Formats: sequence, structure tokens, C-alpha cells
Amino acid sequence: MKNTSNIIFPAAPEDFSETLRQASRAGQKVSIRGYSTQGKTPPDRTEVNTGRCNKILDIFSKDLVMKAQAGVSIDKLNESLMRYNLAIEGYTGSLGGFLMGADISGGQYQWRQRVLGMTFITGGGEIMNYGSMSVKDVTGYRMMHFLLGTRGRLGAALSFYINLAPAHRIVWRKPQNISAVHEISEPVVRITEGIERLFDPAGILNKSADK
Ligand SMILES: Cc1cc2nc3c(=O)[nH]c(=O)nc-3n(C[C@H](O)[C@H](O)[C@H](O)COP(=O)(O)OP(=O)(O)OC[C@H]3O[C@@H](n4cnc5c(N)ncnc54)[C@H](O)[C@@H]3O)c2cc1C
Repeated sequence: MKNTSNIIFPAAPEDFSETLRQASRAGQKVSIRGYSTQGKTPPDRTEVNTGRCNKILDIFSKDLVMKAQAGVSIDKLNESLMRYNLAIEGYTGSLGGFLMGADISGGQYQWRQRVLGMTFITGGGEIMNYGSMSVKDVTGYRMMHFLLGTRGRLGAALSFYINLAPAHRIVWRKPQNISAVHEISEPVVRITEGIERLFDPAGILNKSADK
């Protein structure tokens, strides 16, 4: 754990947990932050920053799932998302700030639906693991989607499993809107074609976006 003045940069879930547990015991006021594009930490609070938890941990290309830490920059994330024809457009800052910040613009709404799992540290320092890398539903209360957007008021999100399968409409806009740089990966094509066979077994419906 590294300290600079009033900012703490924990490097691992255990460090976050310990930082928040100690703050909780001491009654020390803290704010969770990424890049602070949505405002600064007031001087009377200690900032607990996700800046050292900034990695893309895994890309399971066959399952179209990515695991990324909350502090990863949206620019870096977009470099990896390109090959799935996905992008978090127009935003800056961290993945954690994007998913945990309050506003629900179209972009945030769409991306919050893609969160399959999340590691979250409560304000008391407890490490909670929600969801999984599975795209299927799990039993129990769906706390994870309740927590998305809570602006650091209940704790810190540290990492997310994110579904990388592009929306069907995005794939089929490709000829018009997506350049050759954004090659569609083989699993994406396979899934898209499978869904089409399921819904339109005789192939009677128009598949072109411009007609
Ligand atoms: C063109 C453009 C459009 C934008 N549009 C929007 C928009 O529509 N809606 C919007 O909300 N923002 C928008 N932003 C602001 C910003 O880009 C995103 O919200 C950004 O992703 C925030 O990231 P950050 O790391 O700077 O978050 P911060 O400013 O550091 O934090 C934002 C909020 O999220 C909380 N938070 C941050 N990380 C975590 C975490 N790991 N766990 C728990 N809580 C956390 C913080 O406590 C704070 O309340 C836009 C920016 C640009 C440039």
C-alpha cells in the first residue's frame, strides 16, 4: 500500500479490505476514486484510489468474457474491446468510475447489463464476490446490479467479469459502420449465426441493416 498525502493506492483486494477496515474502526472518512473526472475528494476525507488496480486480468475469448480491474483506464480497455467490435465511446476515466458512477446514460446502462460478476469491498472491509463468469442466472439475491452505480457509497468495486458478446445489431451494422480494423472474431460470428438459426431457422428474414 502506497500513501501520498491524503491519497491511498491499495494494490490488491486484501489491501483495500485492510484500508477500509482500519478506516471503519477509526471512523476515518474516505472517498473511493478512480481518475476523479466526476469531481475531487474533499480535503477533509482520505481518498482510496483504484489507480494501482489497473489491469485486464483475463480474456476468455471462447466464452467472450473479460476480467478487468476497476482502475483500468477506458482507453486501455478499448484497445482490447476493439477485436470484439465493442467500445465504451466518448468516456474517459476508469472502468470502476464508469460502472459505479451515478448517471445512467445509454452507454452506462448497456455496459452495466454486461457485468456478469464483481468483487466488491464493503465499507467495513469485507470482500464480497458476486456473480461469476457465467452468462446464466444464479440463485439468490441479485446484489450486484444493485451495487452498480452506487458511487462508492457502500464500498469499492475492485474487478468485474464483463460479457464481450456484441449486441446482434452491432454485428450487422458492420458493413456500413465498422472499418476493416475491427475484424469480427470467430466466436462472435459463430454465436451470432447460431442465434439467427434458432430464431429464423428457414432464413426468411432480411439480415441486412440497410433494408
Ligand atoms: C465525453 C464524456 C462523456 C461523459 N459522459 C458521462 C455520463 O454520461 N455519465 C457519467 O456518469 N459520466 C460521464 N462522463 C464522466 C466520466 O468519463 C465517467 O463517468 C468515468 O468513467 C468516471 O471514471 P473516473 O475514474 O474518473 O471516476 P471518478 O470520478 O474517480 O469516480 C466517479 C464516481 O464513482 C465512484 N467510484 C469510482 N471508482 C469506484 C469503484 N471502483 N468502486 C466504487 N465506486 C467507485 C466514485 O466514488 C465517484 O462517486 C463523461 C466523460 C466524458 C469525457
